[in-house]
Amino acid sequence: RAKSAGGNRFELADEEADARAITRHGLTTALPAALDRGEFFIEYQPLVHLGDGSVRGAEALVRWLHPQHGVLGPDRFIPLAEHTGLIVPLGRWVLEQSVRQAREWRERYDDAGPLRINVNLSPCQLTHPGLVQDTVDILERAGVEPDALCLEVTESALIGADDDLLKPLRRLAEMGVDIALDDFGTGYSNLANLRRLPVSILKLDRSFTQSMQQFPADPVDLKIVEGIVSLAHSLDLAVTVEGVETGAQAEQLRILGCDTAQGWYYARPGPPERLHELALVDATG
Ligand code: C2E
Ligand code: MG
Ligand code: MG
Ligand code: MG
Repeated sequence: RAKSAGGNRFELADEEADARAITRHGLTTALPAALDRGEFFIEYQPLVHLGDGSVRGAEALVRWLHPQHGVLGPDRFIPLAEHTGLIVPLGRWVLEQSVRQAREWRERYDDAGPLRINVNLSPCQLTHPGLVQDTVDILERAGVEPDALCLEVTESALIGADDDLLKPLRRLAEMGVDIALDDFGTGYSNLANLRRLPVSILKLDRSFTQSMQQFPADPVDLKIVEGIVSLAHSLDLAVTVEGVETGAQAEQLRILGCDTAQGWYYARPGPPERLHELALVDATG
């Protein structure tokens, strides 16, 4: 498009940048009312055990049904919500909904095994003083055990984290909440650093899964994943892989010793009823 615009391409680029800035501004100012009006909703993506294919839980992924723009993904509005601080009430809402959903799954399908719920935490929520108490309250109100919950924190949010930042996560971990290191492998963190983090799960970033596209995969990529998995297991951490899109990827990652997987190969994020179906199919063979 820039080509056909000829001499006007810079003007056009400016206009596009302006349009994006206007949209960003509009979305930012619309966020608080959107929360009040109930325009957010959550999709759930199953987490599958690589060994036996059973559904072990799901990750909660928030979406915004915007009255003009349709469904917006979290990449469009989470950064804006972080910028304005709305992420704290929004994140609390996501946590409350997700924990209630986990409660419902556990009640309806107790024979499907204890399904767990993974919820993403943004760095702003980590530094918010109410995090631990809010989480305790939400779990108690829903009657859900802490071990049904896994909070996902990105590797980059914890790089160079001091003890003050880790304290609330430690409290939650002591209560039995699992902490997962999300997008692991993208943040250049010091591997030795893992020992001081109150983390029990590594979520290998999608870029590793993508490098398993061919069968057999690039030998260097295989070595890297193999090394991460063996280090993780020696530190008693479970390994989850993101973005599994093909059976070949799932098979290689299973052979490499990864524990659980998530991706379009199993299911796209969807409404909670979809997980009911998947879990039931597994429970009944
Ligand atoms: P994430 O936590 O790493 O979540 C995984 C992302 O990968 C999701 O994107 C999911 O839809 C996508 N995905 C899953 N399987 C596949 C696959 O097989 N192939 C490909 N290409 N993608 C796959 P989504 O839903 O757009 O979320 C993006 C990010 O937004 C999340 O990354 C997470 O960091 C953030 N996010 C989502 N919900 C929340 C929330 O409630 N609170 C906060 N703070 N952040 C959230
Ligand atoms: Mg996540
Ligand atoms: Mg992730
Ligand atoms: Mg990711």
